[in-house]
Amino acid sequence: MFEKILVANRGEIAVRIIRACKELRVSTVAVYSDADRSSLHVSMADEAFHIGPPAPGESYLVMEKIIDAAKRSRAEAIHPGYGFLSENAAFAGMCESEGIVFIGPTAQSIRLMGDKITARKIALKAKVPLVPGTDGAVTDVEAGGAAKKIGYPVMIKASAGGGGKGMRLVRKAKEFSAALGMARSEAHGAFGDDSVYIEKYIERPRHIEIQVIGDSHGKVLHLFERECSIQRRHQKVIEEAPSGFISAKTRKQMGEMALRLAKAVKYRGAGTVEFIMDQKENFYFLEMNTRVQVEHPVTEMVTGLDIVKWMIRTAAGQKLPFKQSDIKMNGHSIECRIYAEVPEQNFMPAPGRVEYIRAPSGPGIRNDSSVYSGFEVTPHYDPMISKLIVWAGDRTEAIDKMRAALDEYIVLGVKTNIGFLTRLFKEAEFGRAEIDTGYIERHPELLKAQLADLEPALAAAALGMRNATREVEEPAAQTRSNWKSFARRLAVSRSQAL
Ligand code: ADP
Repeated sequence: MFEKILVANRGEIAVRIIRACKELRVSTVAVYSDADRSSLHVSMADEAFHIGPPAPGESYLVMEKIIDAAKRSRAEAIHPGYGFLSENAAFAGMCESEGIVFIGPTAQSIRLMGDKITARKIALKAKVPLVPGTDGAVTDVEAGGAAKKIGYPVMIKASAGGGGKGMRLVRKAKEFSAALGMARSEAHGAFGDDSVYIEKYIERPRHIEIQVIGDSHGKVLHLFERECSIQRRHQKVIEEAPSGFISAKTRKQMGEMALRLAKAVKYRGAGTVEFIMDQKENFYFLEMNTRVQVEHPVTEMVTGLDIVKWMIRTAAGQKLPFKQSDIKMNGHSIECRIYAEVPEQNFMPAPGRVEYIRAPSGPGIRNDSSVYSGFEVTPHYDPMISKLIVWAGDRTEAIDKMRAALDEYIVLGVKTNIGFLTRLFKEAEFGRAEIDTGYIERHPELLKAQLADLEPALAAAALGMRNATREVEEPAAQTRSNWKSFARRLAVSRSQAL
């Protein structure tokens, strides 16, 4: 096992990795930008190195700075987390040539899977089902004809794609060329590469992915599926394991396909093979993410395996000591991402100071976060406050637990999506697992802010007043409605005092 690991990330995932290291008795090194001086990952790590200004391009994304911090601290390995340098083959290669272990797959595996067109070719060779589409990138001249041949509706997708960028749905031929132009310019802006390919659009698709893990001795196992069909702007909001939809037969097939693909690139570490599924349970390979995913906790909850620890152990050369048939799923787990954002304004980020935060706790509740009372959610990074994860015996129970947990979640000072999530978990359709990636768009009523959503804002104002007047006790019970009445009481006592 390593003695010291550098964590090349920030936020909840940096905290998550540092916790795993502590449990493994490994020392940790944090890196931080100016905006993260008082971040939790910095105070939790044994050492911390300042790496520059807030902009990721000047700090977390600068490979030389990260390598330099690793060398100065004599860290033997780097965990990249997700985002930032996690899927950067050049960075993995740089670690390899500097004699630092990159906690993830080899630079070669990342290179092969990082480009969606190359990944499609590998999948084709490994006989993994693919969404019908073009064999490779298309020129402007070829594109229209290809779309017609595939048949509308089609998706235009960036070869270098990620995070839903450079992707366009086109329903009619006459809308095609405008959409092509937009997809190219978005891809160019986001990835510096404007090559695109075309795929058949799958109607009412579900997003189902398989977690895989490999060691450096040739063993690759899968940890079953996660369903991430509830998305906004092609980004996941709610994830669960197992899927509330697929049959045991489909589950088995998907696991086998994912392993076939992972073996084709001699995969090491944790990875995810993403599939898109139609309403008849036909599934097609979308892409492979060669890193730990945001939603890995739901798989941990149902399998009892600590994915981050296994990433570290396999990177250190340890063998996976179990076989496929040893891995079982138990119960049901759901994660939702709590964001500082305004759902009714197209999920616009709402950074600001979190005046007060109180996360729910109790049996089967896990909150992965790096936010504390007084923490500043900055506009420089993703405005995620936390990932709230529940585990229960079955899906219905897990939904009920999530509803109750959300009711206990108090975040004051910034706008959040908690009200929106609460409404979503109350919907009967969601309860019946009748979900697909267009669910949120089909339910505009979820986006309408309700009076209840204002509680935290009201209570934040009240909290500020309380600090000044010390007139009214903070509520002892921990639900959002308690906070609302607290705010009212305070407002009344204030007006009486005035
Ligand atoms: P990215 O790498 O940008 O996240 P993906 O290829 O993983 O892009 O696709 C992201 C999401 O976009 C999917 O989860 C799905 O909701 C939607 N999507 C992608 N391809 C298709 C398709 N061919 N048909 C329908 N929806 C699609």
